[in-house]
Amino acid sequence: MAPRLIILGSSNALPSEDRDHTMLAVVAGEETVLVDCGVNPMIKLQKNGIDPSLVKHLIITHFHPDHVSGFPLFLMSLWLQGRKDELNVYGIGHTIERLKKMMDLFGWEKWPNFYPVEFHTIAEGNSQPVLETDSLSVSGTLVRHFIPTMGVRFQIKSNGYQVGYTCDTEPCDGVGIVADGVDMLLHEATGEEIGHSSAGQAGKAAQTAGVSHLVLVHYPTKITSKMDMIAEATQFFTGKITCADDMQVFELSGRL
Ligand SMILES: [Zn+2]
Ligand SMILES: [Zn+2]
Repeated sequence: MAPRLIILGSSNALPSEDRDHTMLAVVAGEETVLVDCGVNPMIKLQKNGIDPSLVKHLIITHFHPDHVSGFPLFLMSLWLQGRKDELNVYGIGHTIERLKKMMDLFGWEKWPNFYPVEFHTIAEGNSQPVLETDSLSVSGTLVRHFIPTMGVRFQIKSNGYQVGYTCDTEPCDGVGIVADGVDMLLHEATGEEIGHSSAGQAGKAAQTAGVSHLVLVHYPTKITSKMDMIAEATQFFTGKITCADDMQVFELSGRL
């Protein structure tokens, strides 16, 4: 099966009946890498034919509730499934420190026979290595949000396809690094406010970076129409634009 990206959630911090907080799964070869955990991803993974027990890598972009609240539940669900394999969790220091504290509040050290969880603290900067498997590599770059936040960039090794995800951010140099020349850019579109970006600003970033396909995520659930958001981005970006839906699947091949 071709490498693919699954939108597990597409909304900002206010979900609706058909939109969960923005979460992603990137599947390439034997590997599934999850990005963020605003709710427990178990059900959506299963609906997409992904066995959660085989997920070995989870990247957390920053410690806001809409990106981490499902973390303890996901870890607990995997434990109840009888997991034995290690789970690797990646994030910058600010995030990792708080994820550990959150689990400590649950007293997880007393949960019997818990599988190994390996926390990886990613260096803060531009294009820092996050993880590398046989199928893909991921780098992280600091973006500009209310708290320390990491945007991520994936490269699929089999075909060179590149995907950037800005995470929550206002326009900044970091977005340019995450987006530079990628085939697909997932850009947040919460709105034009401090710490966030609008669809128009996403379009500007995509145009400047030479992106092929702009996918808007983390956008308000109360938008009047997706067409309006696409129209706003179109004012600045001449490539393909999609407003993501939950459970939408994108093949990471066939470079435009
Ligand atoms: Zn945030
Ligand atoms: Zn958010």
